Amino acid sequence: MQFKDIVGQRDVINRLTEIIDSGRVSHAQLILGPAEDGSLQMALAYLQYLCCTNRQHYSGQWPVASGQPGDAPLRADSCGTCPSCKKISQLMHPDLHLFFPNATTSRVKSNPESAEFQQEFHDFVIENKALGNLDDWFASLGIENKQGILNVRDADGIERSLSLKSYEGGWKMVVIWMAEKMNTECANKLLKTLEEPLPGTVILLVAESDERMLQTIRSRVQTVRLEPTGNSRDAALAEQFSPMLVAWLRLLFKLKMKELGSQIDQMAAIGREQQKLFLQYTLGVMRGCFLSTAAGLPYSIGSGDAKFDAMFPKMITQNNVETIEQALSEAVFAIERNANPKITLMELSFRMSKALKKK
Ligand SMILES: [Zn+2]
Repeated sequence: MQFKDIVGQRDVINRLTEIIDSGRVSHAQLILGPAEDGSLQMALAYLQYLCCTNRQHYSGQWPVASGQPGDAPLRADSCGTCPSCKKISQLMHPDLHLFFPNATTSRVKSNPESAEFQQEFHDFVIENKALGNLDDWFASLGIENKQGILNVRDADGIERSLSLKSYEGGWKMVVIWMAEKMNTECANKLLKTLEEPLPGTVILLVAESDERMLQTIRSRVQTVRLEPTGNSRDAALAEQFSPMLVAWLRLLFKLKMKELGSQIDQMAAIGREQQKLFLQYTLGVMRGCFLSTAAGLPYSIGSGDAKFDAMFPKMITQNNVETIEQALSEAVFAIERNANPKITLMELSFRMSKALKKK
């Protein structure tokens, strides 16, 4: 998981990479936000960046895939290709230990603990691109009707994982997913681990809410709060731009030159700053379509036409998402560099139209 794979959250990410670069890595952090907003994605991308041997810095450069509309570009990201990045992205890094709510199942009939469900959790995270929620997880274990928790065996497991020697000679990392599901025994035991941090260890608690978490735990972790997606600024951008986007997308399917020409005239007339915002908004929508569809979640582009809304997000797949992002990022770059907007938008239209056919 790279930061660029996360929708939005650019300010949060940029703060995190700055802290890592400065070497002030906190040994325990709480990443707070809904699963669907990418809280686990954030934890995994954070660790990948932390361990990356070839961190990429983009200071002042563009394009870097932007998530939500109007967001700042990323200042840095992991490389995604060094051995460490590969191991973390496949959840195969020997120093990365994952803990999560669990319960007895048809296979594990007593004393359940995270260690028993590593393969299931691995598959769940990879399949859902780390966007699945607790219900999805329990459903995948076939325990919809049970209360999964993190129990004292998990706390022991956490302690054990951190006391091991690092296999790779670097960080020893623990992710506790849905940390609010720790029972009291588990939380009390974890508290001891948090009070006496071992050097070279990082504990990331990922939670949707800190209300049910012990105050003593909250006070010992640094909290990173995700920005709520679908915030008012994004809603305002959607209101402003979605009619234009929908009209344009429809024409990209038909590619009738005369209608497309007059649509582009309208888009060119709004001015460079607005064009940039519009293209960044479009980029956010495309990523949203792709990630939501990939995770099996609905995504509305707000066309006002239920059929189009249901159909369009499925057009953005792993076969074309990168081409589309690249085309949009390059168009933003061109407009920033004072390229002719009509020519830029026409070229973009052709590239998008071609890419959409490759779904
Ligand atoms: Zn790397």
